[in-house]
Amino acid sequence: MDKEKKTVAIVLAAGSGKRMGGSTKKQYMLLGGKPVVYYSLKAFQESFIDEIILVVSAGDREYCREEIVRRYGFDKVRYITEGGKERYHSVAAGLHDAQDCDFVFIHDGARPMVTQEMLSRLLAGVMKYGACVAGMPVKDTIKIADQEGFISKTPDRRLVWMVQTPQVFAYPLIRNAYGLLLEKEQELLTQGIAVTDDAMVVESLTGHKVKLVEGSYENIKITTPGDIQIAEAFCKGL
Ligand code: C5P
Repeated sequence: MDKEKKTVAIVLAAGSGKRMGGSTKKQYMLLGGKPVVYYSLKAFQESFIDEIILVVSAGDREYCREEIVRRYGFDKVRYITEGGKERYHSVAAGLHDAQDCDFVFIHDGARPMVTQEMLSRLLAGVMKYGACVAGMPVKDTIKIADQEGFISKTPDRRLVWMVQTPQVFAYPLIRNAYGLLLEKEQELLTQGIAVTDDAMVVESLTGHKVKLVEGSYENIKITTPGDIQIAEAFCKGL
């Protein structure tokens, strides 16, 4: 890769993991004996990425510093940043610390199966298009429901993708998009619009087109208890 370009990874681990139940947040549950977030940090540590910003809740900073970053020698972690209430607040906090870079890889710490091949495909994508996200075409037919729970539309399956992370952007583009988002936050809240990924921030607020890049079907987000068992099975191959 062009070593003039500086790349930063923002690893998000500041969620409360409400859908998981139990006392341990999903990003810190043990998978193969190590916390879930260890796997994404390891993938970035071993990649071309120059620096990592780990975004966590205020109360988890010390644990992350000692038990994860120091313990496993993740010396690319430059900041352990405090996240916010919603995912997009945590991304904004990470972007604030990511200054002076060319490309930003935003990744859910709850997705342990990110691979070097995926990171290389995304790097090529962002260099060409300025914005790209990992995803996979859906296998099932997807239906759009109406408010009463009846089917209102059946989109062409060949055009429907499940979107994953990493989501990767030229730094000025994503910084500008999040600046606009925070300015319009109240308006979006009033309209009931939920911001669930970074691509939608870029598409809707800047108009910049975002390229879909092949992720993998194994690149799942640990969300509910059964997901840990699925990830355990995938992990055997890592
Ligand atoms: O809640 P969700 O599954 O969409 O979270 C995706 C990722 O974003 C998780 O890794 C979670 O820890 C992180 N997150 C965060 N700050 C929040 C909410 C979620 O860093 N306020």
